[in-house]
Amino acid sequence: MKVIVDVLATAGAPHAERRAAQLAFLEQRAQLWQDIHECRFPSTYISSNGRKFVGASRRTAIRCDFLLANKIVLGARYARDRIADLAQRDLLFYVLRDREVFPHRTGTKFYCCPRCTSKLLECVRAKVFRYVDNEKWKAAIESEGE
Ligand SMILES: [Zn+2]
Repeated sequence: MKVIVDVLATAGAPHAERRAAQLAFLEQRAQLWQDIHECRFPSTYISSNGRKFVGASRRTAIRCDFLLANKIVLGARYARDRIADLAQRDLLFYVLRDREVFPHRTGTKFYCCPRCTSKLLECVRAKVFRYVDNEKWKAAIESEGE
């Protein structure tokens, strides 16, 4: 999973460093998606800027970071990419199921818990979703909450 974080961490780095991280990610991308799809997650996950995730939120963090990395690496190709599309549907299933149970939650409890919501906020800020209104979710998360 480290290649995912490397893409995020080098997004603003010099070209050579950024390119190396992106190539490593592309090489492992299909396998990473397979692991995510089959729910094979490490017990802990260190996201960008060293944030550590354990328990349920590590799954959210990995699903979100995977999408963010795809968006960065694929650029204009992201919209038509099959793996990126499947990964979006995968994450959205969990978010929408939670929203169905708690449709009125806003702020840091918009999805699951504050940690999961903070990762989801990164996703909607980067506009990774094509099936939901990123702006609407962003506004709901950034509002005061219940
Ligand atoms: Zn959570």
